[in-house]
Amino acid sequence: MIVQLLDLRGQYKVIRDELLPQVERLLESQQFILGSPVETFEAEAASYCGTEFGIGVASGSDALLLSLMAADIGPGDEVITTPYTFFATASAVTRLGAKPVFADIDPLSCNIDPSAIEGKVTERTRAIIPVHLYGQAADMDPILKLAARHNLLVIEDAAQAIGTEYKGKRAGSIGDTGCLSFFPSKNLGGFGDGGMVVTKRRDLADRIRMLRGHGMNPKYVHKLVGINSRLDALQAVVLSVKLRYLDQWQGKRKENAERYNHLFRHTDLFQDQAVVLPREIYAGEAGNTHVYNQYVIRARDRDGLRVYLETQGVGTEIYYPIPLHLQECFTSLGYGAGDFPESERAAKETLALPIYPELTPEMQEYVVDRIKAFYRGGK
Ligand SMILES: *Cc1c(COP(=O)(O)O)cnc(C)c1O
Repeated sequence: MIVQLLDLRGQYKVIRDELLPQVERLLESQQFILGSPVETFEAEAASYCGTEFGIGVASGSDALLLSLMAADIGPGDEVITTPYTFFATASAVTRLGAKPVFADIDPLSCNIDPSAIEGKVTERTRAIIPVHLYGQAADMDPILKLAARHNLLVIEDAAQAIGTEYKGKRAGSIGDTGCLSFFPSKNLGGFGDGGMVVTKRRDLADRIRMLRGHGMNPKYVHKLVGINSRLDALQAVVLSVKLRYLDQWQGKRKENAERYNHLFRHTDLFQDQAVVLPREIYAGEAGNTHVYNQYVIRARDRDGLRVYLETQGVGTEIYYPIPLHLQECFTSLGYGAGDFPESERAAKETLALPIYPELTPEMQEYVVDRIKAFYRGGK
């Protein structure tokens, strides 16, 4: 059996008949930049996230960059974030000439540990970027308190977490801005790159809307130096259709996660601690959810397991194999091995298994069966 890490073809079959006439209509109009498809989707996505404003941009990476630009963050400023995330979270800071300052993660959620942040705050700190990794929110209450005490901006990296809830609030609506990605592998993925900043703050929304179009308003009058970063109308059309299915797909991801939990719990792997299952930190508490962009286990001899699973037709991925403080391009930040032990341990132990909505129970049984076989082999 072949079980890919992600296979989007089944999803396309479901939406195809609904989508193609809409795409056709856009093609007939030949209006590809902004316009009503983008405005419509901005309103729909903002409402889904529980914010007033949504500004469609070219990628999740740009959503982060534009959030920082809107707050005028630049040389001399520091921004605190996690070293255990996708590169863009920190590179957005670097690209503006500011300095990313890392704080280690909580090993259970793999999200930034709020208690590690306080000690990193200096008089130069301007913002905190918590990442809702794998689809579960970072512990936002202590982060918001700390931010309020030090007058810091909170930019949520919600690229993996659209729709996830923390104490009844949706990701992106908790901090000052929320950054979404519509990269195809995210829970709401387009047919290419795309992103959005969602926010309740009109001042930031206005600035970001200006900055995504070269700081221009009206035409050829530039009040700010912005960038060219817009969500394509074509992507907006696709995403509007897909958004109608999102809750259903999120539900399937959750079911799949529960099925894995169940299958693993009925093996001795679990008792042997060969495999540690992902933890829902706020499980059972009302108003908290996990949208499982990734189902990430910790595994003994992770690299051996990954190679074995590949020979068995099972796709997996490591998010992320090298924590950001150990990346060559960040050498100048002066960090070294041992600085963030939990991030470094996670980078060695974690493994993402296929979790996409269209995965069948048989496929999941096969994945767990192959993992059992690996450990039975005495490796
Ligand atoms: C995907 C992702 C991004 C970047 O999004 P793009 O749309 O690919 O630019 C940023 N942060 C995290 C945590 C992500 O997973």
